[in-house]
Amino acid sequence: MIKVKKRKILLLPGDGIGQEVVAEVKKIIQWFNSKKSLDFDIDEDLVGGAAYDKHKNPITDEVFYKALESEAVILGAVGGPKYDNLEFSKRPERALLKLRKELKLFANLRPAICFKQLVDASSLKPEIVSGLDIMIVRELTGGIYFGEPRGIKLIENGERRGTNTHSYTTNEIIRVARVAFELAKKRGKKVTSCEKSNVMEAGVLWREEVQSLKDKEFKDIELNHMLADNCAMQLLRNPKQFDVIVTDNLFGDILSDEASMLTGSLGLLPSASLGAKDKNGNIRSMYEPVHGSAPDIAGKGIANPIASILSFAMALRYSLNLDKEADILEKAVQEVLDEGLRTKDIISKGMKEVSTSQMGDAIISKLK
Ligand code: NAD
Repeated sequence: MIKVKKRKILLLPGDGIGQEVVAEVKKIIQWFNSKKSLDFDIDEDLVGGAAYDKHKNPITDEVFYKALESEAVILGAVGGPKYDNLEFSKRPERALLKLRKELKLFANLRPAICFKQLVDASSLKPEIVSGLDIMIVRELTGGIYFGEPRGIKLIENGERRGTNTHSYTTNEIIRVARVAFELAKKRGKKVTSCEKSNVMEAGVLWREEVQSLKDKEFKDIELNHMLADNCAMQLLRNPKQFDVIVTDNLFGDILSDEASMLTGSLGLLPSASLGAKDKNGNIRSMYEPVHGSAPDIAGKGIANPIASILSFAMALRYSLNLDKEADILEKAVQEVLDEGLRTKDIISKGMKEVSTSQMGDAIISKLK
């Protein structure tokens, strides 16, 4: 068998069900290694609460440098009630923020796909969501979550004032818009850019820069501008009108959560965070399910591993340039759902309930 180049993948399972779902991803990577002669070099380490328990630090420098050197980081989830009272700098979420910031992961990709087998799990009518396939691209390292000045201050009259600053530069807008246009090229060739240019100057700049990039480099892509509040409404009214949505950090946070609920279950939703190219031309990236550590079901073997497995499929596609393998994996997930296998979160009448590891095994059996 001809072996191809070793690809470094770092698994950071984290806390709660993160450990259970990433274990299934690991099985799949090992399957690709043994059966498809892909040579993934898997490393695994602690992050979040698990790292705090051992090192009193949610991410050690050693793990951080491993992440820098990996072609793809696959994260489970971090957090849990045990860590809720820690000081801010020690909290599990700090590890995530550090990874996103230091790896400069400026584009967060969240697909909202409604699997035909799970149409009934959505709170919307089947005809509204059936066949839904949207990609939301959220700017992740700028905007109001990072802008200065920020803080809470005492003011003259004895009241307090809380301040956050919403600001974007041309470059921050263009680089995330480019990701959206490139994705649209491979999909439905349509981008909707969302902001609040009716009331915010940063929104006016956003609209102008996205339009100018389209005019210069992406003439064949259809571009629509939409106010973010209208987009929130349109996502519920007629979500299938969208192909790729690109928006800032704050609106993206809200709109991507809204879109995720169109699909029914948190346990199915993957995400990718992409950054700038490193010196070797590789894009820095981190892949994780949208869900958290789900302390209410952790350790019971009932978590749905599909969101993590589909996150790995995104890694195959966007970081490892293995589109064919990504297709095979996504198809295997569809086939398992077609056969009626369901974890507890998506079970319905007439379907067969399986555990986390049985779901992973069933998907592997379809890869064959
Ligand atoms: P959550 O996503 O962990 O859980 C919300 C609900 O969805 C729970 O009822 C849970 O059982 C269910 N659920 C989530 N994922 C599932 C899966 N794969 N299969 C089946 N059911 C699933 O959100 P939460 O309860 O608000 O947060 C729990 C902890 O996770 C908190 O500490 C929070 O800070 C953390 N969190 C971490 C991340 C992350 O690591 N990226 C994201 C969100 C929340």
